Amino acid sequence: MRESTPPPLARARLDRDGAARSAPDRAARFDADPSARVLLMHDGRALLTEIVEGVPPVLDLRSPAELARLLDAAGTVDAAGAAGEEAGRTDVHGLRVYLGRALDDEGAATAGAPIEVRVLDDADADAVEPEAARWVGLRQAAPMLSDRDSGLFTQAAAIVNWHGASAFCPRCGAATEPIESGWSRRCTNDGGQVFPRTDPAVIVLVTDADDRVLLGSNAMWQSNRFSLLAGFVEPGESLESAVVREIGEEAGLEVVDVEYVASQPWPFPASLMLGFTARAVSAEAAAAVTPDGEEILELRWFSRAELAAALPEVGVPGRTSIAGWLLERWYGGPIESSPQGWGA
Ligand SMILES: [Zn+2]
Repeated sequence: MRESTPPPLARARLDRDGAARSAPDRAARFDADPSARVLLMHDGRALLTEIVEGVPPVLDLRSPAELARLLDAAGTVDAAGAAGEEAGRTDVHGLRVYLGRALDDEGAATAGAPIEVRVLDDADADAVEPEAARWVGLRQAAPMLSDRDSGLFTQAAAIVNWHGASAFCPRCGAATEPIESGWSRRCTNDGGQVFPRTDPAVIVLVTDADDRVLLGSNAMWQSNRFSLLAGFVEPGESLESAVVREIGEEAGLEVVDVEYVASQPWPFPASLMLGFTARAVSAEAAAAVTPDGEEILELRWFSRAELAAALPEVGVPGRTSIAGWLLERWYGGPIESSPQGWGA
């Protein structure tokens, strides 16, 4: 089945331009290119233009020259380059990663413009934009952003998170340094390369013979918040097996007719959410669902009418999550009470 609208964080309008990553002079050419633009991140948040009533914000992309001027004027060290290539960093301040080329004229970037993400420390972020409200997290920002900006921010958040967790070589423990424009790291001791990784997780819309949906309340959430069941794929396991195992573990329910629907990155910090549908094997099994009592505390079957009647007392996933997207796909329209920003 072809989906008309992709899941919210699966939107993108960018040529990742992978072939350019290994060019030795890429960063120097970027810094000298007047069309180049930098997505600025600080503490997991990106710099957005001012939020004005009725006008959605965009990513506040800056040229490398303007950025250098601002940081020079502030007397902070322009961390671009030197610090970003420094080996063994335990933080990502100064990191720069080449994201790709814009496909459309939009905001401060023209079609074909190269775009990097750069991570600023407290002092540099303050020098560029002291107003804290302009630095916005991905969950809050994504629903307001265009396809291109949402995709850029999602890509930037995911790759920056990976760098933050990959300062040391998994083989020998020595420091690693970023190479390939930020798309790989190399061990300073044995020269081995480590590549960005993504953790696959399945999220499942389970229905019964009456097309009711199974929602669970997670132990980590406030009560009365319900979502789809989900879990990480284990090593050596297929996606289909993970779906059957997770629903078995969390709900004591055997499911059949496992079908893939769509995926979206969920960089909190490094997941790829793979959305599936599945069906309870029988009415008897559906009636006997039992929460595992550890991860899932309560399970309920909802018809569309029952879900509509339960809102807003029952909270359902927000519009950034693929859970919300799958649920609305089943529901047949927007579920207006979705609290914005609530996760998968
Ligand atoms: Zn090593």
